[in-house]
Amino acid sequence: MRPLPELTPENTAFWTGGAQGKLMIAFCANCSDAIHPPQLICPNCWSEAVESRAVSGTGTVYTYTVNHQPWAPGMQVPFALAVVDLDGAPGVRVTAEVVGADPEHVAIGQTMRVTFANIDDIWFPQWELAE
Ligand SMILES: [Zn+2]
Repeated sequence: MRPLPELTPENTAFWTGGAQGKLMIAFCANCSDAIHPPQLICPNCWSEAVESRAVSGTGTVYTYTVNHQPWAPGMQVPFALAVVDLDGAPGVRVTAEVVGADPEHVAIGQTMRVTFANIDDIWFPQWELAE
């Protein structure tokens, strides 16, 4: 069992965008900064004109780790967690599990594409190799 995030006004677009296959990132309409984790007020210019927009869902592996420890009963190991620099959202990195690939094949600099895992009303972003 995986703990689910609580949906709030600021994070609902991020956690439910996968229902439409979209990775939704908060952007400030005033200064154009991407804001992640999402917030209702821009931390750069304090504007409340924050809106969520779909990004391409691709990015580049900044770093990653391979987990070999089953932290919960039934957890399948090994698996990789990747921190990915998002295309179209400067400065935003999204950490998520890598699926559909041998964890040993993940490398810094690889291009990744988002996919989603749905549990209840949450769509968890996951990364798969883009090639
Ligand atoms: Zn701003």
